[in-house]
Amino acid sequence: MKKHILFLGAPGAGKGTQAELLSKKNSYLHLSTGELLRKEIEMNTNLGIKVKKTINRGELVSDEVVLEIVEKNLGNHKKGWILDGYPRNLAQANSLNEVLNKINQPLEVVFYLDIPEEILIERLLLRGRKDDNEETIKTRLDIYKKTTEPLVKYYGRKSLLEYIDADRDLKTISIDIQQKMA
Ligand code: ADP
Repeated sequence: MKKHILFLGAPGAGKGTQAELLSKKNSYLHLSTGELLRKEIEMNTNLGIKVKKTINRGELVSDEVVLEIVEKNLGNHKKGWILDGYPRNLAQANSLNEVLNKINQPLEVVFYLDIPEEILIERLLLRGRKDDNEETIKTRLDIYKKTTEPLVKYYGRKSLLEYIDADRDLKTISIDIQQKMA
């Protein structure tokens, strides 16, 4: 059973939902940088105040900020962990490698949730989170294509990639992922 897992895919692909299901089922830590950042905003912490505008514009917060969050939280797991929303660019992927080497817990699989862009936009508009309006969605998809999507090849070269067709119902996708975890 794989214990050190990464979810990759565009905003709206369903990473958060699938990561949550999988983490509950296996008692793994679900580490979503987006969720953790939104919590900081809700609680009005210094960090939250610092990142609020950036997030609401649909842009990425700095690599240093997210790295700190990841380092702080990865140590707390017991059985395994699932990263969702991190890394989002090559620099973050390299930092992650270093962190994981240090704690001696290398990535075992990267699930790439693939889905057509029209469906993404529909889903995000339906979700209606504060950073889900037409303009920020466009920004986030543009940033995704330019800076995050290259990670698909990066992890492909490392032979870690498992392709998941994310244009199916939630349960079917979940079963598919479970089977590929074994
Ligand atoms: P989505 O998958 O819909 O983009 P997330 O919850 O993963 O939603 O992220 C929401 C926002 O949080 C992003 O648009 C970005 O501003 C910020 N964020 C999350 N993870 C990172 C990261 N690894 N690097 C930089 N910014 C991030």
